[in-house]
Amino acid sequence: MTGFATRQVQAGYVAGVAQNSAVAPIHQTAAYEFGSLAEAADLFALRATGNLYSRNAGPTQQVLEERVAALEGGASAAAVASGQAAVAVTLLALAGRGGHIVAADRLYGGTVDLLQETFDDFGIPVTFVDQDDLDAWRAAIRPETRALFAESIANPIAQVLDIRAVADIAHDAGVPLVIDNTVGTPHLIRPGEHGADFVVHSATKFLSGHGTSLGGVVVDQGTFDASAEPGGWPQFTEPYARVGDFALWDRFGAGQAFAALVKSKYVHDLGPSLSPFNAWQILQGIETLDLRVSRQSATALALAQHLQGHPLVSAVHHPGLADNRWHALAERYLPRGGPSVFSFDLAIPDDGQTQERVARVVDGLRVIRLVANIGDARSLVAHPASMTHSHLSPQQRAAAGISRSTIRLSAGLEDPADLIADLDEALALV
Ligand SMILES: *Cc1c(COP(=O)(O)O)cnc(C)c1O
Repeated sequence: MTGFATRQVQAGYVAGVAQNSAVAPIHQTAAYEFGSLAEAADLFALRATGNLYSRNAGPTQQVLEERVAALEGGASAAAVASGQAAVAVTLLALAGRGGHIVAADRLYGGTVDLLQETFDDFGIPVTFVDQDDLDAWRAAIRPETRALFAESIANPIAQVLDIRAVADIAHDAGVPLVIDNTVGTPHLIRPGEHGADFVVHSATKFLSGHGTSLGGVVVDQGTFDASAEPGGWPQFTEPYARVGDFALWDRFGAGQAFAALVKSKYVHDLGPSLSPFNAWQILQGIETLDLRVSRQSATALALAQHLQGHPLVSAVHHPGLADNRWHALAERYLPRGGPSVFSFDLAIPDDGQTQERVARVVDGLRVIRLVANIGDARSLVAHPASMTHSHLSPQQRAAAGISRSTIRLSAGLEDPADLIADLDEALALV
């Protein structure tokens, strides 16, 4: 296999369309013309693979799927409309009917809402566990558990997951491990190399890097075996009645059947399709992923080190710092650099004026922008207690390592000296 950077710019695209465009073109069409009725019938029956209608698949999305699969070292991928959609269709496809999910308790807020409320509406039970407590993962698994789910690096406080340990627990129970690698990025960490069976991304963040487009991807690493437990995965091993009398596992096999189910059932039925234009935008971003992420990673560590020595900062939550609780895991799992999303606490009292003091700092920033996003070329801050984590109780926030003075920072591509000066000037306002 070629190197990471080569795959970033080439994987998935061969100039083979009639016009031989060197860059993957945007196939902006809702549907595809069939050469004959026989060809159409084969496509509808999943006897042949090809383009049929843009809700399920298209050539631009397919380049993106192959490229992200190549970066994660996976076998196949399905691209969808957003990171939320990627998490949802992945867990719905694995849970099937009657399945149960065990998830880390430190997840992206939208994922918590999805698992806690919407999956509950759907009758899919989810047990949340402290992701650092391996006994808790083991104890939460039931006979009907169909997936374990966590983020490689959680935010806002950048915990690093011991992926290998959780993967071993999952595999001992015959269950796949799904990892959200949005903050990790395949440049810094490839969860499949540590035992994850499925890797999901919000492509909106680092894969894009430009902050213009929503998208999501799920990569099948090819390690999940639906035939291992008789009757355990009927969605793969029993006849796929909507199409024919064959089972998806028999037709597509390991590494391919999952994407076939996601596209032909969940994306087809629920409709979270990625537009060709957004797929193309994300592809432009991916071409510079390693350059951006290594720069952002170095900048974030420099900012974390600077903030650690600042008298108005009481704590910096970055696993690259030697005194951080997850430093040893970061050294093991992140040899190419730490996360560029981290947070810090202001050294201010927790009283009636906390919000006002935090606002003085956040509103005083001139280079770093107040935006509820991460992984952008621009450096961004957010205030978890009044934004992303505002619906949590003070106890839940404390359990997540967040206080009312915690500020999240996503380091961008600006000059680090400008970012440090901006932070210093804003901090001087309290
Ligand atoms: C943003 C994000 C999501 C959701 O992705 P969208 O593209 O916004 O739908 C999921 N997981 C993580 C870790 C994220 O940061």
